[in-house]
Amino acid sequence: MTAPVRTRSSADLIRAEEPVLAHNYHPLPVVVARAEGSWVEDVEGRRYLDLLAGYSALNFGHRHPALIEAAHAQLDRLTLTSRAFHNDRLAEFAARLAALTGLDMVLPMNTGAEAVESGIKVARKWAYDVKGVPADRATIVVAAENFHGRTTTIVSFSTDETARQGFGPFTPGFRIVPYNDLAALEAAVDETTAAVLIEPIQGEAGVIIPDTGYLAGVRELTRREGCLFIADEIQSGLGRTGRTLAVEHESVVPDVLLLGKALGGGIVPVSAVVARRDVLGVLRPGEHGSTFGGNPLSAAVGTAVVELLETGQFQQRAAELGAVLRGGLSALVGRGVVGFRSRGLWAGVDVDPALGSGREVSERLMREGILVKDTHGSTIRLAPPLTITAGELTQALTALEEVLRA
Ligand SMILES: *Cc1c(COP(=O)(O)O)cnc(C)c1O
Repeated sequence: MTAPVRTRSSADLIRAEEPVLAHNYHPLPVVVARAEGSWVEDVEGRRYLDLLAGYSALNFGHRHPALIEAAHAQLDRLTLTSRAFHNDRLAEFAARLAALTGLDMVLPMNTGAEAVESGIKVARKWAYDVKGVPADRATIVVAAENFHGRTTTIVSFSTDETARQGFGPFTPGFRIVPYNDLAALEAAVDETTAAVLIEPIQGEAGVIIPDTGYLAGVRELTRREGCLFIADEIQSGLGRTGRTLAVEHESVVPDVLLLGKALGGGIVPVSAVVARRDVLGVLRPGEHGSTFGGNPLSAAVGTAVVELLETGQFQQRAAELGAVLRGGLSALVGRGVVGFRSRGLWAGVDVDPALGSGREVSERLMREGILVKDTHGSTIRLAPPLTITAGELTQALTALEEVLRA
């Protein structure tokens, strides 16, 4: 028997992971031990501003008091029932989430990938039951450079070879077209098409914002062709872009909305398919499910998240501070930044490759007390908690300026 690991330092803890933890991530060498608001603290007590916010799972910051309170209260009363029984939290969660998004019905799941999988199943079922597509012939059109999760079916329509290599055989029934290209989309849609599945802003691809008119065009095209528009807002939704949903920037209402990440308030995994009644209504008992989906703890936290968004104040902050972020990044263009894209409190920043990879810049920022994450090549992604202050944001931008100057 080996002695229990009693390591303490960051370096020791990182070393202790190596033999026992799957190597499917390459984290920055920081070991977080506690967090509050926009700040995290490592095991040595060093403090960092969190400008990743759990890929938008922490839109309300770490341990938002209202969310922690809702979770504590629920923990003390009821945590899990399974859907074999009703629980007293689920109706309110579904009703308020549907009202927030302007849709009718909610299918509660846990992780984002499960919401995407569920959306695909619902779209296929709708295609067979409502649209009349011949059995097993339904197609779903997706965009190149997409990120929708990591399951076997989802990587089947990824264009990222690292995500696919070695994981075949893949699920058929998907057509991939370039993002932000309505003509290509139109050419790919036919009578077998159940749905068009896209991210209104491609997050993992580097915060790629389509041209104005693209989302409205997808809406118009899918309506005209009689297929569903599924918007994956797992990362773009729930306040991040300055609106509740990123599709709102083009006044678009999709048929099916996929939510996750921030819906769990940074506490528990909560995801959902939200859709019109004539779409989600195709599911009958036994056809789909999840042991943990819609559990009372998730529903309580999810309801508290919806309650925060109902005030509109987080969306407004994201819009206002988004202007500060945009201004700060604009000032860095030509001074280490070759270009950037931003909407609300979300930015993809292309650093001059001569100054280092996105990973290297992220490591340098970490040493300055700022946590960010690279996406591809020399692009870093900024997605601070929507609770960040203007002062903290300016502090982060100053650190970025210094790192790029050094
Ligand atoms: C993160 C993400 C997912 C997958 O969510 P998980 O909870 O990691 O399974 C799906 N779609 C988008 C757009 C995402 O950003």
